[in-house]
Amino acid sequence: MELEILEQDKHNLKFILKDISIEMVNALRRIMLSWIPCMAVDEVIILKNDSPLYDDILAHRIGLIPLTTDLEAYNLPKDCDCGGFGCPNCQVSLTLEITNDSKDNLIIYSGDLESNDPKIIPVDPNIPIAKIGKNSSLIFEAYAILGRAKDHVKWQAVSNVFYRYLPKIEFDNSKCAKCPDKCIVSRMCPENLYDFSDHKTPQLKKEYWKNCTLCGACEENCPENAVKLAHENDTYIFSIESDGVLPLNVVIQKTFEIFLGKIDEFLEKLEKVEIQE
Ligand SMILES: [Zn+2]
Repeated sequence: MELEILEQDKHNLKFILKDISIEMVNALRRIMLSWIPCMAVDEVIILKNDSPLYDDILAHRIGLIPLTTDLEAYNLPKDCDCGGFGCPNCQVSLTLEITNDSKDNLIIYSGDLESNDPKIIPVDPNIPIAKIGKNSSLIFEAYAILGRAKDHVKWQAVSNVFYRYLPKIEFDNSKCAKCPDKCIVSRMCPENLYDFSDHKTPQLKKEYWKNCTLCGACEENCPENAVKLAHENDTYIFSIESDGVLPLNVVIQKTFEIFLGKIDEFLEKLEKVEIQE
């Protein structure tokens, strides 16, 4: 397997994966999406709620706030010595107590939550939770635990993860000389990958593969059959988008840890199976 990074910043990672089967790429995608644990609020004790939202809607909104996660410091509740009852090794408390003394309405944001662990806080302090009127209060205690997105999407460690085939277009523009319609392909391509600025001979842009979605508009519409659309075998452009709950290097590392763990578990179970001849 070969890997080449195309784009990288705090919230996005895009790379090319070569010599890997589609089943394997999809296994990596599904592990990233469903199996990497992260922190989210799972229990809310509402002491006072003067906002127009019902308690359960409020609790749902609090649960969906992305929280920065430290996988080294916390256990999944089912693996914790406390048996999942809730202890400092598997649970973080986030409290909020606000009374609006002003004459105007007050919007309460995720940044108003007070965590008992400074490493587990909302990723973005500007997520609105509720709006309260004057002389109103909102008081609650919320408990965040590690969980996996296979149980609830609030525990999804990445915002999105997807892959597509690496496009391969063969464009023979010598066929364009006799074409009466210059150049329908450059007009039809939704990603504008054909350059016809000289109004003589259309050219396929150099790094077309970065944006080509293999929609087929070029191949279908070219009257001279100058375009052949295909994709590289066993080569994919893989993209990960994160909301910042975990650094992307931790996401990658955890993905392979979980993947190898699953293979070990499979082999272990396979050894125990008695095959009748
Ligand atoms: Zn515990």
